[in-house]
Amino acid sequence: MNLHDSERVSGVLGSCGCIEVASPDEADIVVFMTCCVREKADTHLYGQVSAMVSAPVPPSGRRLVAIGGCIAQRDGENIRKHMKNVDVVFGTRAISSLPELLVGALEGNGKSVQADVSEDDPGFSSDLPSRRETPWHAWVPIMTGCNNFCSYCIVPYVRGRERDRVFEDIVDEVSRLREDGVREVCLLGQNVNSFGRQRYGSPRFAELLRAVGETGIERIRFTSSHPKDLSPETILAMAETPAVMPQLHLAVQSGSTRVLKAMNRHYSREDYLALTDQIKSAMPGIALSTDIIVGFPGETEEDFEQTLSLVKEVGFESAFTFIYSKRPGTPAAEIDDPTPREVIQERFDRLAELVAQQAFDANQVEFSRTVEALVEGVSKRDGDVLVGHSPKNKTVHFRAPEGVEPDSLIGKLVEVKVEEARTWYLRGPMVGEPR
Ligand code: SAM
Ligand code: SF4
Repeated sequence: MNLHDSERVSGVLGSCGCIEVASPDEADIVVFMTCCVREKADTHLYGQVSAMVSAPVPPSGRRLVAIGGCIAQRDGENIRKHMKNVDVVFGTRAISSLPELLVGALEGNGKSVQADVSEDDPGFSSDLPSRRETPWHAWVPIMTGCNNFCSYCIVPYVRGRERDRVFEDIVDEVSRLREDGVREVCLLGQNVNSFGRQRYGSPRFAELLRAVGETGIERIRFTSSHPKDLSPETILAMAETPAVMPQLHLAVQSGSTRVLKAMNRHYSREDYLALTDQIKSAMPGIALSTDIIVGFPGETEEDFEQTLSLVKEVGFESAFTFIYSKRPGTPAAEIDDPTPREVIQERFDRLAELVAQQAFDANQVEFSRTVEALVEGVSKRDGDVLVGHSPKNKTVHFRAPEGVEPDSLIGKLVEVKVEEARTWYLRGPMVGEPR
């Protein structure tokens, strides 16, 4: 969601004539897009913003610093008062105000901070221009905000309540993207499965998936899905829409029903297992991935072992694993927890080891198969190696065949014969013609 917000910021500034530069040192305007889901991101931001004070002055002689997104929404007043080198603060609902705020800052000549952290909804930010990072992949927001109030999570407080985008606008945008040469879209929302729930009789996520599939776009992914709202109709729509990739990210958070209750997740371990069974029988071979929090206040060794056993039982092929981070203002932040940090770290390491083992095992299934990869770019480590993702969202590495310019393959769909199946990637030669 933050990546996409950054694309919108870039699009809004681009439509005012701004261009991107290679490094913040050269920039007249630096915008920090922020996240406060976990504490680490918080601390990074303040260090990076302070570092701008000593950065070289750009050729124009003046640099404007803006802070946007979740931290701006949460800490707007504090930033205004205490961060002297910040000119503009704009919250999660104020991307469209950014040009006006920047002009205000220029005219005020650094005398006051321009801020918009209003909670009023100015409309869906997707109606703003967007400058996509890649021409072949696009994030397509379908809803924003969250009504779930999981007890550990800050998102509903900083992004507000759920708001759906208009069904037809989403489908039209995907059609336009397809005409522009986009091959893959990722439908975006904090809980895409609740799309359409706000208005009685309006089309739901299952219908949206089918309609997006009918645009002819080649690959559809979506994130995030809340298990409590993943309906049988959606599972059927996934199975019956060929462009929906055989992959699902379905955050479980914990394998213990007791902890899930304390997290306010509204499903039990058994509900989650029954749901993943339904998914697997509707789409055999689907790659399931998840989010897991370790060390939620009061988590016992027994609770944690239930998480390990659920990871095995579901057979997740990958997982984002997080150590619980206390977020002031959320209900979980009020719960005292005597569990020592080392115990939580040791649990986290055991989970990470299990996830890596399962990722490795799942990748062995791909060995000697031919997988299709959408080529995204060259590897950061080796400029001769191209990187893409398979339908199951596995990273695929390959070298361009003799005589083929690697850059010419970026944005293409290619077939790769898997000759090496490692924990986090598949590798092999490209076979056949790119398309
Ligand atoms: N809406 C998405 C969902 O429910 O699947 C998740 C959005 S949240 C920004 C991404 C992930 O961050 C969550 O699934 C959770 O695992 C993790 N997370 C959220 N709050 C956290 C916290 N206080 N400490 C650690 N991890 C957290
Ligand atoms: Fe946070 Fe829960 Fe909403 Fe996801 S569903 S954004 S974890 S409150």
